[in-house]
Amino acid sequence: MVERVDVLVVGAGTTGVYFGWLMAKKGHSVLIIDKDAREKVDQRLEIIHFVPRVMKQLGIPVPTEPPEFVLRYKDIAVSRLPLWLQRMYKLLEASGVRLDFSCEFKELIYDNGRIVGARVEGDGAERDILARLVVDASGIACAVRSTLPKDYGVDTWKYDPTRMFYVILHYIKWKEPDKPHPKVGDIIPSYFQFFDPGYGGDDCIMGIAVPDSFVNAEKMMAEIIERYHYPPFELKKREFNYFPLSPPPYSLVGDGFFCAGDSASIINPLAARGIVETWTLLKNVEPEFDNALKSGEYLSKERLWNVNVKHFRHEGADLAHTLMIASFVHFIPEKEINLLFDQLRPIVDTSTSSDDDSAPEEFALSFGMLVKILFKVIGWLFRRKVSLKSIKHVLRINGLAGRIKKHYQRYPEEPDDFEGWARKADEIWANRRLPAPPRM
Ligand SMILES: Cc1cc2nc3c(=O)[nH]c(=O)nc-3n(C[C@H](O)[C@H](O)[C@H](O)COP(=O)(O)OP(=O)(O)OC[C@H]3O[C@@H](n4cnc5c(N)ncnc54)[C@H](O)[C@@H]3O)c2cc1C
Repeated sequence: MVERVDVLVVGAGTTGVYFGWLMAKKGHSVLIIDKDAREKVDQRLEIIHFVPRVMKQLGIPVPTEPPEFVLRYKDIAVSRLPLWLQRMYKLLEASGVRLDFSCEFKELIYDNGRIVGARVEGDGAERDILARLVVDASGIACAVRSTLPKDYGVDTWKYDPTRMFYVILHYIKWKEPDKPHPKVGDIIPSYFQFFDPGYGGDDCIMGIAVPDSFVNAEKMMAEIIERYHYPPFELKKREFNYFPLSPPPYSLVGDGFFCAGDSASIINPLAARGIVETWTLLKNVEPEFDNALKSGEYLSKERLWNVNVKHFRHEGADLAHTLMIASFVHFIPEKEINLLFDQLRPIVDTSTSSDDDSAPEEFALSFGMLVKILFKVIGWLFRRKVSLKSIKHVLRINGLAGRIKKHYQRYPEEPDDFEGWARKADEIWANRRLPAPPRM
């Protein structure tokens, strides 16, 4: 017997569960599959930083009780991702979503060149599922998108060293907490090393994100610990992860297809965050999918096109801007980056320490901030702390960031105008002239 569903979601991480839940609440039949066992999903990341303000706006359950909830840090709920997911699975099932774990996506099924479902494998057997929409929520694996035909209208690239960062999280506890040591929120930008809240108390997460390889990341971490003379700490555990670093595919939809989350590189690279960004996107485009499914017609690329328009002209344009800005770090010598970051952060840091979930998260450089920054930079140039070459790079990248944002804001209304738009976007991204990732 052939299985039929409205929506087949591949991946039961934060992207898959929210999209599946939204569609089920609208009355559509949803099946979510994940290659991992139910109790194993997303164990790659124990601690996650949720933003309760956004979760409340989107109607998503916020962690409040331990052990799922760990602690509050500024406007963030430090939480255990696997436990939150387990709670969501029960909620989803109560809403009629079917979940199938230890079930892997194998290949897409086409009819007349258009997606009509997928072949999956679970319990040692393959089976076909006919679906009106197949969603790639498979994270960094890009399991579905990467198998699309090249001319399907959605980029098929997979992540490679030029498109991702290797992240190692060290869960540590300071052995002599009274000795000076880095504090939560500290960062060494040139190395992408950061200190995040962990289990609380004297615990924290010492993380590093570098291009190329975990070997590279381990070497850099050892170098930092030695160079900055960190006091002794107990290493409780380490997590090895990938962080996408690529402009998203220029189209998130194709005939019978949609991709989001890590599989579509929906990420804010400066905040190392992708969950909120993806959830916001999914909520924004919920009506497009709901209406298309209710119409009873085939979910063609043309019918779903407004998903692209809605995302890329707004949040997508902001994320593209942020990604372009993040390229600074490839061009400026280590010492200068650290100086720029240390000195400019106090001027531009607007992060709130309030518990007020209704506080909006907005950032804009005021005239006063700009004047302060200008004076600082002129001073550094005179004292040769920053080179003219670096300032030129900053200005170049800043100009490109403005251009890419404007270009995304003009995302084509119709698929017919897409090719020209995509060529122009390619040109602007290529102008970053990113160096190859370092080899060690
Ligand atoms: C170190 C680190 C820390 C981070 N911290 C934060 C944070 O604090 N806050 C934040 O917002 N973001 C954070 N992020 C980013 C965040 O983790 C991702 O944006 C988010 O988890 C992506 O969710 P996803 O559902 O798209 O993918 P995933 O969570 O990776 O889920 C994909 C699922 O698909 C399944 N799958 C893969 N292939 C197949 C297949 N062939 N068949 C079936 N199933 C398949 C996988 O088993 C997996 O369960 C962090 C990222 C890293 C690397």
